[in-house]
Amino acid sequence: MPQNELTPAMRQYMQAKQELQAGTILLFRMGDFYELFFDDAKTAAPVMDVVLTARAGFPMCGVPYHAVKTYVGRLLEGGFKVAIAEQMEDPKLCKGLVKRDIIQVITPGTVMEDDLLHAAKSNFLTAICPLKDKTGIAMLDLSTGDFRITETIGRQAFETEINRINPAEGFPDLPKNIAWTTVEDWLFDLPMARENLCRHFQVASLDGFGCRGLEPAIAAAGAILHYAQNNLRRDASQVTSLSCYSVDDCMVIDRISQRNLELVEPIFADSKNNTLFSVLNETITPMGTRLLREWILRPLRSKVVIDERLDAIDALLASPLTLAELRETLTAVRDVERVISRLNIGNANARDLLVLKAALEELPGLRTILADTPSSFLAGQRDALTEKPDLTDLIGRAILDEPPLALKDGGFIKDGYNAQLDDFRKASTEGKDWIANYQAHEIERTGIKNLKVRFNKVFGYYIEITKVNLDLVPSDYMRKQTIVNGERFITPELKEIEDKVLGAEEKGKALEYELFQQLRETVCRHTADIQASARALAVIDCIASLAEVAAKHQYVRPVITEEPVLKIRDGRHPVLDARLVNEPFVPNDVDLDTRDAQLALITGPNMAGKSTYIRQVALLTILAQMGSFLPASEATVGITDRVFTRVGAADDISRGQSTFMVEMVETANILNNATPKSLIILDEIGRGTSTFDGLSLAWAVAEHLHDTPSVKARTLFATHYHELTDLALTKPGVRNFNVLVKEQGEKIIFMRKIVPGCADKSYGIHVARLAGMPKSIIKRADEVLTTLENDEIEDGKPKLSLPPKRHRKAPDLENQPLLFDLGNL
Ligand code: ADP
Ligand code: MG
Repeated sequence: MPQNELTPAMRQYMQAKQELQAGTILLFRMGDFYELFFDDAKTAAPVMDVVLTARAGFPMCGVPYHAVKTYVGRLLEGGFKVAIAEQMEDPKLCKGLVKRDIIQVITPGTVMEDDLLHAAKSNFLTAICPLKDKTGIAMLDLSTGDFRITETIGRQAFETEINRINPAEGFPDLPKNIAWTTVEDWLFDLPMARENLCRHFQVASLDGFGCRGLEPAIAAAGAILHYAQNNLRRDASQVTSLSCYSVDDCMVIDRISQRNLELVEPIFADSKNNTLFSVLNETITPMGTRLLREWILRPLRSKVVIDERLDAIDALLASPLTLAELRETLTAVRDVERVISRLNIGNANARDLLVLKAALEELPGLRTILADTPSSFLAGQRDALTEKPDLTDLIGRAILDEPPLALKDGGFIKDGYNAQLDDFRKASTEGKDWIANYQAHEIERTGIKNLKVRFNKVFGYYIEITKVNLDLVPSDYMRKQTIVNGERFITPELKEIEDKVLGAEEKGKALEYELFQQLRETVCRHTADIQASARALAVIDCIASLAEVAAKHQYVRPVITEEPVLKIRDGRHPVLDARLVNEPFVPNDVDLDTRDAQLALITGPNMAGKSTYIRQVALLTILAQMGSFLPASEATVGITDRVFTRVGAADDISRGQSTFMVEMVETANILNNATPKSLIILDEIGRGTSTFDGLSLAWAVAEHLHDTPSVKARTLFATHYHELTDLALTKPGVRNFNVLVKEQGEKIIFMRKIVPGCADKSYGIHVARLAGMPKSIIKRADEVLTTLENDEIEDGKPKLSLPPKRHRKAPDLENQPLLFDLGNL
């Protein structure tokens, strides 16, 4: 639209829009609304869930100013950046066009406002720096000061890690559902990154952080720090340390498996109670909640570290009193980790200081409770709780118990904390008292019964006299203003006292603000210690949560081993076990061993419980490796390097329009990446195509998993392809199981019990009979089935397993192009 056709306000809008990076949504204040126009309106209306309208033919939408935070929150969650243009003048007081300026650009990775952040989720700003086959990743949570780097090799590992970090914002540009910011290349310059990081941390070398040699990661870290500091004009003093980690330290759970297993997010948004997180989350503090999420997504691979956590849970379970006391004490602790960041950024208020004080006050108690804990892990956390009696004392003396939210209006510092402030307050109170007496005094002097001493912001204190009494006004009154039914006056003595009162109040407010800044600076000098305490609190909270869950749902401690085995007695699905109300959950065993029971085929009719069972096995493995107890009577878990979970296209409820192609891509991915230490869960693979196709593929996949030494992963394969059970005839590592089903008269009872052996082949026809299908149809189906089955076995061996007639070169999977593409899945 040509500029000259626009109204002045719209021209102003266009100008503001030009100042912004592409992709930033502009909320333009107009009276009581923030308005959005053109493409911004079209893009944002559905995200904010408001109606898209039109003005003079162009699209617009708007949100009421008082609810703007909610809408900003929705936009940030949608991965957008949001710019706020405010009216810089009061429209009532100014003529013509109101001046408007962009006062703030809020991005998903840099928000600090508590109500725009998820208490239960970290909020990472992420930078990546590819260098040859390596990719350096840096992640920075400005809301907590958590700053980490790592490196991945290959695209797969990179994608898995990014998915695990789940960045709120990142750069450079990647096609993903997050706000990627484009930055200039020089930001990733290694020497500059090093120098910037060293300057920020005031160190001569980064080696102290243990990140020697992680060059792409350091470049990414420098870039992200630079972005945070410069583009957002924040000095990031809450970032006190940098840590590096290896992705090999934890079990790989790729994006698809994470979703299929509903670890932290449900497949359907309205079933939040279906996640493993929802069952395990008995944490009390927001820091604990965030850490628990991370533990679930990063199960460990080191027996020593896993056992440390298990020992800690053991210790708490052995002393229920300690557990109860810990949890009770933690209830006084709120989000200190984010509070200390806000204090550093300069975004905090007096209430934040009280949150900090409340947490610090619990530290001595927590140290006492854990004084002689037998767990070295908990003892380590206890020792990291750094008491700060001086700070609690200082805040206690300075800040009132229920201070106001705003800092500028004062009223939050206690009497007796600062002599000068006390003087100002005294002067103000005395002046007010004097004014209160002055009214009585003047009524008596003038004989005007309804004489009033009043105050407003424009005139300050004045005397108001109604019309009928105007002739009684003494000569020392000075007329200030005429109103409808009287006049307003001032006197020199009234003004003198007013100066004192108002002057004292103003000075008092300014002084309170300054005192707050001093307190803030004092507190911020202890940032690193407070952060260390906050992290220890998070760990203690997590362990206590896992102990609480273990006690509540009767979990047992798993035995962790390096052997490639998985033995579970009476295992239960953690989520169904906790949520089933009408029927009790039926426990089941699992016995896998790479050497002689590597692949379990589970057959059985629909609704028997196959999918539940195989997911349960994956979840129990994850529980064990995150260092948690698990729902079973006994468990030995061999450390697993990665868990793969794939659901055949026809059964996958998590994908809207899943295709067989996707299913095959995912399966190829498993075959290319699984190792003898992996755990593979295959649910109805092959069902997405015609029976013979699907069956043949399923058969070949199972054979490959069994026969290929470099794969040989522990595998659970749920299938309705009954023919697959023949694999056990020739493959020693294949075991057949089925889910027990009983008939009772006209009814079928699902026993939910996994038992060795194959399911009854004619089961489908049997069910059809019970369902009342005409007898002729049942008879014919039986005949067809028999014909089909007669061909199945040849020379005592299943036909499908016969070697190929001609010698064909086996496909070289290693060198096949990887079809996997995150963007298309
Ligand atoms: P399948 O994959 O064999 O079709 P599912 O695993 O989807 O069957 O199970 C169907 C339903 O049976 C589940 O929704 C669950 O409510 C119930 N179920 C499964 N396993 C058990 C069990 N061990 N104990 C109790 N209920 C179970
Ligand atoms: Mg199923």
